[in-house]
Amino acid sequence: MREDEQAVNEEHDDTERAGDSTTATMDGPAGTEALPNEETAADPPGPREDGEPSTFEELGLEPRLLEAVRRRGYERPTAIQRRAIPPALAGRDVLGSAQTGTGKTAAFTLPMLQRFSDDEHGTLRGLIVTPTRELARQVEDAVGEYGATMSIEPMVVHGGVPIGPQIEGLEWGCDVLVATPGRLLDHCRRGTVDLSEVQVLVLDEADRMLDMGFIDDVRKIVAQTPDDRQTLLFSATMPNAIKSLAHQIMEDRVEVEVGLEKAAEGIREVIHPVDRVAKHELLLHLLENGMEGQVLVFARTRDTTQYLSDYLERKGVSADALHGGRSQEQRQRSLQAFRDGETRALVATNVAARGLDIRGIRHVVNFDAPRDPRDYVHRVGRTARANETGDALILMAQHEWTYVRDIEKLTGEAIERRAVEGFEPDFTPPPPPELGDDDGEDERETSPLNRGRRRR
Ligand code: AMP
Repeated sequence: MREDEQAVNEEHDDTERAGDSTTATMDGPAGTEALPNEETAADPPGPREDGEPSTFEELGLEPRLLEAVRRRGYERPTAIQRRAIPPALAGRDVLGSAQTGTGKTAAFTLPMLQRFSDDEHGTLRGLIVTPTRELARQVEDAVGEYGATMSIEPMVVHGGVPIGPQIEGLEWGCDVLVATPGRLLDHCRRGTVDLSEVQVLVLDEADRMLDMGFIDDVRKIVAQTPDDRQTLLFSATMPNAIKSLAHQIMEDRVEVEVGLEKAAEGIREVIHPVDRVAKHELLLHLLENGMEGQVLVFARTRDTTQYLSDYLERKGVSADALHGGRSQEQRQRSLQAFRDGETRALVATNVAARGLDIRGIRHVVNFDAPRDPRDYVHRVGRTARANETGDALILMAQHEWTYVRDIEKLTGEAIERRAVEGFEPDFTPPPPPELGDDDGEDERETSPLNRGRRRR
């Protein structure tokens, strides 16, 4: 069944990043986890280019959508919104290079909604396909909010939950469907969803769908939608497979790009060199000594994630684990408890945390240094929202210094190394790499770590 495939794929993705660091390759799924990077949304990334509209009014949005944007508290459009909304409103296909956290959900949702006329309510006119269940729910929430002033009814279908209620919901009808590929195809096969009236198709985080093995499913889904639809495709990176997909399915396309390669201002970054065996004790020590507020901890494998969360709980820190091995219901409960402030530490794998928009996190701890340096940028983007400060820590064991070096090369900034008293490691941490202007360019071009990376 398709939903099983999705579970398998998620599992695969989790385990791709699992295993001992000495055996894991850096050539695993490329791309980033696309964690929301809220400060870039609140403070639009990238300078404004000449002629770009600087207000939502200037983008050409209709009054009800302007009202929706006001209600969300947005003052100015982000870069991706400034660049993608006008062509999308003009009916063009848009190929957007942008990660979660840049405000891309509104960049595709607002023009999509503007296109819908009021007298067709209940007809499925907008379809948004996303790689993961959590992202699907998050996007559905956003569509609900942006569309509230237009009485738009969104619905979400994804695997991991019973299909019956979804079938009933689809029978009732909706205006916008947000779906993960496996379950959506399942509905297509059962004949419980009709995509023949879709006017706007959004493929969100297309590179992730590629990484997770969904690209054929995506093609099948696209084939079920009308040829004269408008297509909006967003992807953090642009591997060839995505470019060729875009080429095939988008006729009149405009390409828009928003870069994001640096940690945001306001984030204090530090590396704590520590022996591998002492990492968990150091984490506890930090949580008990000086770290205030909620903490998001990233670990690489499900086992480590679960172990750490259990360990912290045993030591009296309220903690929870978020990884692909937990049921959808458990994942949602964990997330909600963290959002509600009931849990102090959420320990997550990349795959489970992908695309999540959680506010108010003061500290991000990289219990394991990420192998893809772009993951670091996304992870730390979880803290230090506009006008706030936050801390991003890496607990670096000896074998991880090459990952740290890649992070520093990517961001072009050396991160302070500071051992914590009582946890001084047995090794001498290597100094930061030389970070001249051209440093690493050759390597960046060829390294699998930087596949699809945009130059600054
Ligand atoms: P996204 O990249 O769509 O996941 O958005 C990331 C975060 O930015 C979400 O919390 C959005 O609500 C927020 N956001 C989107 N657009 C804006 C904007 N123009 N101003 C401020 N925040 C925004």
